[in-house]
Amino acid sequence: MKKIEYVPKYEPKTYGPKISYKDCIGCKKCYDTCPLDVFAWDDEQKLPIVAYPDECFYCGMCELECLELAIDVEVPLHVRLYCGIFPGKVIP
Ligand code: SF4
Ligand code: SF4
Repeated sequence: MKKIEYVPKYEPKTYGPKISYKDCIGCKKCYDTCPLDVFAWDDEQKLPIVAYPDECFYCGMCELECLELAIDVEVPLHVRLYCGIFPGKVIP
């Protein structure tokens, strides 16, 4: 009997800040801004690392501070619903 290999269609989703290293210039603003120390700093490469993504509470400050637009904070759906933020719609 042929064995069917399971190939997951989607990667498990993780939330919090995602850094685009092709855009990051290592200004360190995200590292200095985050109130919860989600970021660590790589002294050798002079780049931030998302070290503790589970600590993120999705305030968005790092994304706002990054003038290179190198950070995208992924906010989970249940948090967006709780805050009344939904694509194209504001829930009263
Ligand atoms: S604020 Fe943006 S450009 Fe500056 S270190 Fe962080 S990710 Fe890189
Ligand atoms: S969204 Fe807020 S808590 Fe999360 S990493 Fe950015 S600054 Fe830190």
